[in-house]
Amino acid sequence: MAAARSVGMEAEVAALRGRFAAGGTRGAEWRAAQLRGILRMAAEAEAEIALVKSSCKFALKNLKKWMKPQKVTAPLMTFPSTARVAAEPLGVVLIISAWNYPFLLSIDPIIGAIAAGNAVVLKPSEVAPATSSLLAELLPRYVDGSCIKVVEGGVAETTTLLEQKWDKIFYTGNGKVGRIVMASAAKHLTPVVLELGGKCPVVVDSNVNLHVTAKRIAAGKWGCNNGQACISPDFIITTKSFAPKLLEALEKVLEKFYGRDPLRSSDLSRIVNSNHFNRLKKLMDDENVSDKIVFGGQRDEHQLKIAPTIFMDVPLDSGIMKEEIFGPLLPIITVDKIHESFALINSMTKALAAYLFTKDSKLQEQYEAAISAGGMLVNDTAVHLTNQYLPFGGVGESGMGAYHGRFSFEAFSHKKAVLVRRFAGEAAARYPPYSPAKLKIL
Ligand code: NAD
Repeated sequence: MAAARSVGMEAEVAALRGRFAAGGTRGAEWRAAQLRGILRMAAEAEAEIALVKSSCKFALKNLKKWMKPQKVTAPLMTFPSTARVAAEPLGVVLIISAWNYPFLLSIDPIIGAIAAGNAVVLKPSEVAPATSSLLAELLPRYVDGSCIKVVEGGVAETTTLLEQKWDKIFYTGNGKVGRIVMASAAKHLTPVVLELGGKCPVVVDSNVNLHVTAKRIAAGKWGCNNGQACISPDFIITTKSFAPKLLEALEKVLEKFYGRDPLRSSDLSRIVNSNHFNRLKKLMDDENVSDKIVFGGQRDEHQLKIAPTIFMDVPLDSGIMKEEIFGPLLPIITVDKIHESFALINSMTKALAAYLFTKDSKLQEQYEAAISAGGMLVNDTAVHLTNQYLPFGGVGESGMGAYHGRFSFEAFSHKKAVLVRRFAGEAAARYPPYSPAKLKIL
C-alpha cells in the first residue's frame, strides 16, 4: 500500500515538474489568472475569507512589481556592467497546513507560491476534515489543476509526500512534526519554512488603559478560536499590585462577551477534538495548578467546550507554563517589578509573538531590544498578522522563514544574482603572466 502510494506520488510530482519545466507557471498572466481564481473561490468558502481576499488582492496588485528584477549598483571592479537581482520560481513546492485556520493556512501560502510562479501541492490538515475535502473539491475548479494539486490525508500520506523531492517545503504546525519535516527535507537539501507556535507572553504595565487592555487581550485570546491560535496570548506577566485590577477588568469584559454561562455562548469556539480537550483538561487538573483558578474553569466534554479560565501564579515548572496552551486557559504570573518579566521571557524558548501593554515609551524600547520573538505588538494582540507589509514567521523554536505580502513571494522565490558585462573594459593586470607592476595593481 505504502509502496504503491509512493509510486503514485512520484508520478504526480514528476508530472508537476514537467509542467513547471515547460514554463507552465512562469508567466505573469498564468500567475494572475490563478490568483483571480482563488479570489473567486474565496467568495464561495465560508471561513477566514477576509484575510485570504486581502492577501490575494495585495499579491495581484503587486505581482508585476515583485516579478521585476531589481537593479543594483555595479561597482568599478566589473566596469562596464549592469547588475540585477532576478526573482525566479523555485519549482515544485509542498505546503502542509494545520487545522486551526484550515482555509487561511492553506490558501495564504499558496498565494505566495503562485505569485512566485511555482507548481504546488497542498496537503491540508486531516484534523479539519471538512475543510480538507472542501479544498480538494474547490481548488481545482478555480485554478490550473495541472500545476496546483491538493493531496488529502494524515500521517501516512504526509510521510509519502515528504519522501519526494521538493524545491521548498512550507509547513505550518507544531515543532515536533516541524523536526520531521526538516529532517526529510535535508535528504534532498530542500529549503523549508516552518511556521510553528510557542508560548506568546503578554506583559501588562500598570499605567495602561485598563478597559481597552482587557478587551484586546480577550479578543486575541478567546476571540480567536478560543485560544486555538498560534499567536494567541499564552500567559500574562504583570506586577503583584496591578494583577487584581487586571483580573477584575478581564472578568468584566469576559462576562460582557460571553455572558454568565460562557459554555452556552455561541460566540465561544469549541475545542477541535477530544484529544485536544483531554490535553487541556489535564493541564487544568494538574494538582499544582487546579487550585490557582481565579476565574472560569467550567467545561463540557460532550460539547467539547471549555470556558475562558484564568489562573493566578501557577508554578513556573507546571505543565501549563511549560507547553504551548493552545486553548482557553490563561495563567497570570506576577512579579515585583515589571522589568523582571524580561528575564522570565528570556528563560523560555522564543515565542511567535510577544505582546506588551504600556504607555511608557522607555519600557517599549527596552522590551523591543531585550526580547527576541517572531513578531512584536505593543498595546494590542494578534492584529499584527493583518499587516501585509510585515513578515509573519517565527524565530528559534517558533519557526524559521516568514510570509505575508512580499515576504510570501520571496519565501517561494530564489533571488538570482545576474551580472551582465560588455566586451570592453579589459584590464591587463587581471591576466598572467603577473609582473611585479601588475601585482601592485591587484
Ligand atoms: P495538525 O495536527 O493539523 O498538523 C499539521 C500538519 O502536520 C498536518 O497537515 C498533519 O497531517 C501533519 N502531520 C502530523 N503529524 C505528522 C507526522 N508524524 N509526519 C508528517 N506530517 C505530520 O496541526 P498541529 O501541529 O496540532 O497545529 C498546532 C500547532 O501549529 C501549534 O503549535 C500552533 O502554534 C502551530 N501553528 C502555527 C502557525 C503559524 O503560522 N506559525 C499557524 C497555526 C498553527
